[in-house]
Amino acid sequence: MSRLIKKMTVMSDSANQVCIAGAGPAGVVLSLLLARQGIPVILLEAQSDFDRDFRGDTVHASALEILEQMDLAQAVLSLSHARVERFQITTAQGNITMADFSRLDSAFPYIALIPQARFLGFLTEEAKKLPGFSLIMNAKVHDLIIDDNEVRGVIYTKDGKSFELPALLTIGADGRGSRIRELAGIKLGKTTPPMDVIWFKLPRPSIFGSANASGGRTGAGTILAILDRGNELQLGYVVVKGSFKTLREQGIAALRDELCHLEPALRECVGVLKDWSQCAILSVVTGRVDCWHRPGLLLIGDAAHVMSPVGGVGINYAIHDAVATANLLTESLLEGTVTDDDLHAVQLRRERATRFIQSVQSIIQRRIISSALKSSRPFRPPLLVRILTRFGFFQKIMARIIAYGLDPERIEPELTA
Ligand SMILES: Cc1cc2nc3c(=O)[nH]c(=O)nc-3n(C[C@H](O)[C@H](O)[C@H](O)COP(=O)(O)OP(=O)(O)OC[C@H]3O[C@@H](n4cnc5c(N)ncnc54)[C@H](O)[C@@H]3O)c2cc1C
Repeated sequence: MSRLIKKMTVMSDSANQVCIAGAGPAGVVLSLLLARQGIPVILLEAQSDFDRDFRGDTVHASALEILEQMDLAQAVLSLSHARVERFQITTAQGNITMADFSRLDSAFPYIALIPQARFLGFLTEEAKKLPGFSLIMNAKVHDLIIDDNEVRGVIYTKDGKSFELPALLTIGADGRGSRIRELAGIKLGKTTPPMDVIWFKLPRPSIFGSANASGGRTGAGTILAILDRGNELQLGYVVVKGSFKTLREQGIAALRDELCHLEPALRECVGVLKDWSQCAILSVVTGRVDCWHRPGLLLIGDAAHVMSPVGGVGINYAIHDAVATANLLTESLLEGTVTDDDLHAVQLRRERATRFIQSVQSIIQRRIISSALKSSRPFRPPLLVRILTRFGFFQKIMARIIAYGLDPERIEPELTA
């Protein structure tokens, strides 16, 4: 743990204040749930907005059901968004439906593609209506306040000045490169998937009409993921880990050609891609920590388990962690004492689900994505996949695994009253 021990300068007279570092889906949803229970919450976000290149847009049925419990689903769905009912991969042999979300027994049988900046902006505006909630943007946590081996809050910088923020409980929801995790001396067991992603936006080709073009396109050693946002496309061009340098040497025109080869409709708009500065190169790392907590501190979301983009589930898992945390800790927070056992209960509740989905992602990365990227011939999915994906029940099971996983959370009834 950080060695820093400081006397606390009291910024709040509240004995049960919670400090949450990171306004991603985990931090924002947890803030809202706790503040609704009258618990004072200060949410610190290092950046000045909610737009992150890596977040994607996918909000699944189980997260929409949670929002419904919060009475926010309709308002969220009134934000401009697109819907995807089937996850399809286009190969040289035709389309394969990997998952059919329209078969889910849910009021929301689809993936809602909601740009995260809009989604998180909306949820924080909701939280701001509550008296105990404060959001501080441009507030970067750089140290922990530790007293008697217990975390008692954080120290953050804003506008070049340092501030101490005391808290009964500190939540590290600061994502895959979590500073809180590092300060607490919690090691991330990393795995390195075989791929990196080149992430960029293009105008939506008119030729797609009203159909949603989201899904995967495959070629010889290439994969393109498309998120159709209705007015623009978010694209992820998947490359073998570390191979970006070679691609860059070939020039951006080579990337444009490859994109048109993978999806001919892109000819209409690919010309706007003129420079590598329009692309974010995202190194895909996954991993998890063995212990999610220290006295006075809990990690949730990617800070506890770094998710791969496969399946577009990381946002969902971050939201489910937030719900489990609120379900299990609200009572203790209201009473003003949170024990290590309370914190461990959150890990026990969420660990099985995150391990399971990371294993599924890892199998897809090793068996399908890796062989597709290495092949010099047009991608042909493994025989078993080709057979199974012909059956509606398999497409439904895959949709269920992606949208709910194991142990999906529901907000406890007493927290929704
Ligand atoms: C290439 C790529 C594509 C992806 N696509 C998808 C997708 O389509 N769908 C999906 O569900 N998941 C996707 N994921 C995974 C997803 O992005 C994460 O699982 C999810 O964002 C985790 O949410 P979080 O709230 O835990 O953390 P984050 O969303 O990472 O939020 C953490 C927040 O903490 C802030 N922060 C960081 N350090 C500090 C600090 N010191 N002080 C204060 N604030 C700090 C950050 O600015 C950030 O806003 C993708 C991942 C990658 C790598």
